[in-house]
Amino acid sequence: MDIDSLAEKIASGDRRSLSRAITLVESGRADHRAQAVALLEALAGRGRQALRIGLSGTPGVGKSTFIEAFGMMLVGSGLRVAVLAVDPSSARSGGSILGDKTRMEQLSRAPEAYIRPSPAQSQLGGVARRSREAVALCEAAGFDVVLVETVGVGQSETMVAEMTDLFLLLLAPAGGDELQGVKRGIMEMADMILVNKADGDLKAAATRTCADYSGALRLLRKRAQDPEGFPKAMTVSAYEGDGLEAAWGEMQALADWRREAGHFDARRAEQARYWFREDVRQGLLARLSGPGVAEEMARLADAVAAGEVTATAAAEEMLTRLR
Ligand code: GDP
Repeated sequence: MDIDSLAEKIASGDRRSLSRAITLVESGRADHRAQAVALLEALAGRGRQALRIGLSGTPGVGKSTFIEAFGMMLVGSGLRVAVLAVDPSSARSGGSILGDKTRMEQLSRAPEAYIRPSPAQSQLGGVARRSREAVALCEAAGFDVVLVETVGVGQSETMVAEMTDLFLLLLAPAGGDELQGVKRGIMEMADMILVNKADGDLKAAATRTCADYSGALRLLRKRAQDPEGFPKAMTVSAYEGDGLEAAWGEMQALADWRREAGHFDARRAEQARYWFREDVRQGLLARLSGPGVAEEMARLADAVAAGEVTATAAAEEMLTRLR
C-alpha cells in the first residue's frame, strides 16, 4: 500500500480513502499497524483543527436522534461533520449498539457527513485507540466537527473525554425529582449537560431536571479552563430541534474562550501525553498476552504461591523476558 498517496487522498477529502484508513487503524495485524503509524505520521498537522465533541448518555436518552438532528443542523450551516462511536459493549458481545448508520438515516446520506460505527474489538483499550486515531484521520480529512459518541458505562466516558475538546452528557427527563444517579465523576467531566426530550408531556419534567442539574453543577469546584457559567445544563428536544442552535452557540462560546485563554491547546497537549502513556501501557499488556507468555506467567505465579521465589524476583524475571 502506498501510504503517501493514501495520505494525499485523505487530505483531499476522499471518503473511500478515509474509510480504508480507519479500517487500517482498526486492524490488529503487525504490518497493518506499521502502515497505520506511518500514515498518522504523514498526516500529522494536516487539515484543520476540528472541534472534537464527545457525547455520552445511557441507551434510550436519544443520542442517535440528537446526533441526527444536531448533525443535520451543522451540515445545514455549511459544516462538515464526522461521527464516530466508542462502544464498550462491542468489546464484549462483538456487536455494537452505537454508530449504526440506520439510526441516523438523513445524516448518513448527507454528503457533508461521515458516520463510522464502533469496531468490534477484544478490549476497550483497542476500541479507544482506534477511535482516537480515527479522530485524527477525520481531522486530516477536513471535517469541521468530529462527534464521538459513547454509552454511559465503565471507562468509555473517560476515554472519550480524553480524545475530545468538549464533553457533553445527554440525559432524559427524570420521573421524580431525584437526580438520576449520574456519577459525580461523570458530572465533573461534563462541559454541558443536555436534558433531551424537552417536548410535549415531558417538557415540564425536562425543565425541572435541568434546574436540578444546574444546581448540582454549581456545587462542583470551578475549573480553571471554564469561563463564568460553565459547566452548564440546558434543555433540548432532538425531535423538535428546540435548543439545538442555542446549545451549539454555547459550545462555540466555550471553545472560543478556551482557545483565547490557551486552555484549548493545553488540553490537547495533555491528552497527547495521556495517550502516549496509555499506548505504552497497552503495548506492554499486549506483550504480556503474547505466545508463551501466559504460560510463563502462570508458572511463575505458581512458584510465587508455593514460596519458591519471591513475588519481587518473579516479577523482575518476567519483565526481563519482555525486554
Ligand atoms: P439512544 O439509545 O441514546 O441512541 O436513543 P435514541 O435516539 O434511539 O432514542 C431513544 C428513544 O427516545 C426513541 O424512542 C426516540 O424516539 C426517543 N427520543 C429521542 N429524542 C427524543 C426527543 O427529543 N423527544 C422525545 N419525546 N423522544 C425522543
